[in-house]
Amino acid sequence: MIRIFSFLLLGALQSLLAAQTAQAQSTVLNPVLNLYSARHYQTDEALYNNFTKATGIRVQRIEAGDEALLARLRSEGANSPADIILLTDASRLWKAQSEGLFQPLQSATLERRIPVELRSRDTGKGSEWFGFSRRARMIVYDKSKISPDQLTRYEDLANPAFKGQVCVRSASHPYMLSLIGAMIEHQGEAATETWARGVVANLARVPRGGDTDQIKGVASGECAIALTNSYYFVRMLRSKDSSERESAQKLGIVWPNQATRGTHVNIAGGGIARFAPHRDAAVRFLEYLASDAAQSFFAEGNNEWPVVVGAALNNPELEALGTFKQDALSVERIGQAQGTAQRLIDRAGWR
Ligand code: FE
Repeated sequence: MIRIFSFLLLGALQSLLAAQTAQAQSTVLNPVLNLYSARHYQTDEALYNNFTKATGIRVQRIEAGDEALLARLRSEGANSPADIILLTDASRLWKAQSEGLFQPLQSATLERRIPVELRSRDTGKGSEWFGFSRRARMIVYDKSKISPDQLTRYEDLANPAFKGQVCVRSASHPYMLSLIGAMIEHQGEAATETWARGVVANLARVPRGGDTDQIKGVASGECAIALTNSYYFVRMLRSKDSSERESAQKLGIVWPNQATRGTHVNIAGGGIARFAPHRDAAVRFLEYLASDAAQSFFAEGNNEWPVVVGAALNNPELEALGTFKQDALSVERIGQAQGTAQRLIDRAGWR
């Protein structure tokens, strides 16, 4: 009996050893990078293939929504195979940082190429995450109902003259929490809360749907003013569906707060996972994302702007939107303000 048992045990040990050797060999022969990404654009495929071509490192992707990715990372803990985590919006990146899901990176390349306000603070060991594309929170409006000189700032959304005319998504969504967080940073909690109550009083309907639904709400006449991230608007301008293109084309657009602090800008970005098994590959991947070629591709995949100054943009509809003054507030500070922003909208009754 003991003999049979030791025989089985020996067999098990041998196969375990063989499996480990095979794994070690395959890591040497076929280096991999495990990418946890909340991005899901077809154009990203070419981006990752180019990285593999240049480095020989194969990219294994796990794609899911931001929340699902964070839940997975939490449950995997120290056993997580994730090397890189890509998320959208500073509020989610900061949340992942505050839960200890990233590790810092000191990279002269990334520090040189990515503006300081578009990455998390250097704690002495480097930044935990970096923005790789930019989006702006813009206002769209119905030209037949709204005069553009009345609507130049986010603050104007609370103007009583616009009662029953404003469409927004839920204020608990990260895009709204970041905008409200930025407003708190600029003008304090009390003024922002007064503003939030004014917006709620102006709503055309109970907040529902995503940014595209708000744009369509203006196009259909249900509301006259809406807030959206810029890429949703450009996506409609470039849609294969002619009715979507026409809906977007007939709207007026505003880059808010040009005369003062500038329009709220947010990022999609990422960093190295805390327990990354392939840290060297992860560093190479992040530096690759900041290269001119990857920057254009990465941003283009979602109709965003590159973060690297001078990276080319092959997107006529996006370019036609022109340039505007951007709020230079650090995205990390915006992300950090989300708790205060959430409590504020709860008090203001903004769902
Ligand atoms: Fe989005």
